Amino acid sequence: SGLRRLSTALLQDKALIDGKWVSAASGKTFEVYNPATGSIIAHVPDMDSTDAQKSIEAAKKAFYSEEWSGLTAKERSGLLKKWFRLLEQNRPEIAAIMTAESGKPINEAIGEAVYGDSFVEWFAEEARRIYGEVIPGPVPNRELFIMRQPIGVAGLITPWNFPHAMITRKAGAALAAGCTVVIKPAEDTPLTALALGKLAQEAGIPNGVINIVTSGREHAPAIGELFCKSPDVAGISFTGSTQVGKILYRNCADGIKRLGLELGGNAPFIVFNSANIDKAVDGAMVSKFRNCGQTCVSANRFLIQENVFDEFASKLKERVEGLRIGDGANSEVKVGPLINKMQIDKVAHFVEDAVSKGATVITGGGRLKELGELFYKPAIITNIKPNMVLYTEEVFGPVISLMKFKTEDEAVKIANDTQRGLAGYFFSEDVQQIFRVARKMEVGMVGINEGLISTAEAAFGGIKESGLGREGSRHGIDDYVYLKYMCVGNL
Ligand code: ADP
Repeated sequence: SGLRRLSTALLQDKALIDGKWVSAASGKTFEVYNPATGSIIAHVPDMDSTDAQKSIEAAKKAFYSEEWSGLTAKERSGLLKKWFRLLEQNRPEIAAIMTAESGKPINEAIGEAVYGDSFVEWFAEEARRIYGEVIPGPVPNRELFIMRQPIGVAGLITPWNFPHAMITRKAGAALAAGCTVVIKPAEDTPLTALALGKLAQEAGIPNGVINIVTSGREHAPAIGELFCKSPDVAGISFTGSTQVGKILYRNCADGIKRLGLELGGNAPFIVFNSANIDKAVDGAMVSKFRNCGQTCVSANRFLIQENVFDEFASKLKERVEGLRIGDGANSEVKVGPLINKMQIDKVAHFVEDAVSKGATVITGGGRLKELGELFYKPAIITNIKPNMVLYTEEVFGPVISLMKFKTEDEAVKIANDTQRGLAGYFFSEDVQQIFRVARKMEVGMVGINEGLISTAEAAFGGIKESGLGREGSRHGIDDYVYLKYMCVGNL
């Protein structure tokens, strides 16, 4: 049924450059798979830096065109609103495409579409409020002004775990600011990106304002490097691995290029003795199993205070064992496949490493070959030690690591013992403790008695090696504008 719904006009198998649906200059394509079934959904252009260069030129031309730079903020806002309405109307089709190429359960795909669309709506609203400042001059006969102007062409590189929202969170802000964009979607999930592009075109967003360059993994580094080094790209926004983020940061040094980075996390999830355990178990389930544990804000280290450890572990075990696993196109499924072979191998390796160093598996673990190549049985593991990769690295899969702690100070110390600082969660019903711990957590986002906190109105982003800049909220515009100071003298 998921696949039948895919035979819609939104399923594009060409890239989008300067308003035209095009093949790679080389004529090459790559395959897009359904991770639940292993079947091929589409062949899309395997573009390289030659095509990427064309798309940068198209975006540059569009940036300076009367059709874009000549628009008022209100007109840009209107176009974004039209795009939003079309996205809303086409939610079922977009969600079906997302489930087919990413494996996420259909209800989650609809949830992501709602979330992803909300950035277009939010930034349509923000577009009209990109205010400047009037500053009292320090001497007579002078007036000082600050304007916020679009930086130019923005290169956007996005991951497969949120094929829709990671694009709209960036492109919505960039377009609102008056920039034009070149998007390089992840190789696993280009079809959602192309569908978004199709609707942007229908909404009347001018040619060249949104360009989408699809490429297989092999060409991604060269395209990334071109974005970083081209003098015609003013800024880059990337969501993905810390490793690739560091490469982009280095490559942006020469051109002193504007860079926004949303990288990996290693989120602690602390349950204090004062917590409401049922709320904590609910929070753990949504934080961990959304997208099969493949989100950068997924709880990665569960720290449970000793008095409530047994209750939390047994309630969690019951919930985990009740999870329905399978093809996400079936609306009863709660956990789909991992995205690809590399990810499932990594998850399996993390668990094997922990077990070999003395960890205990409370439930689950292991591949579910009977369902398909990419299914892994949701697991709870305890007796985790700092020498295990499960402790230090983000597992990015359906595996819960449980650790027991005695005091609040100890929990905060373990929580902060990482170079990643994206999200952190804790459960407590003690108001003093809530503010005390929230202040001490070294992360960009804190969920208190909540496992799911992302929303267009709030600032998303990390500290330490988890990134630079913020997305969503009014601050999401900042990556795409610079301040211009005007001094009017001799008045
Ligand atoms: P993941 O491990 O989640 O696949 P990556 O950081 O590898 O995360 O991928 C995120 C995005 O970065 C994808 O669009 C991918 O194609 C792209 N990418 C991968 N390697 C590079 C690179 N060296 N330079 C620029 N982009 C890259």
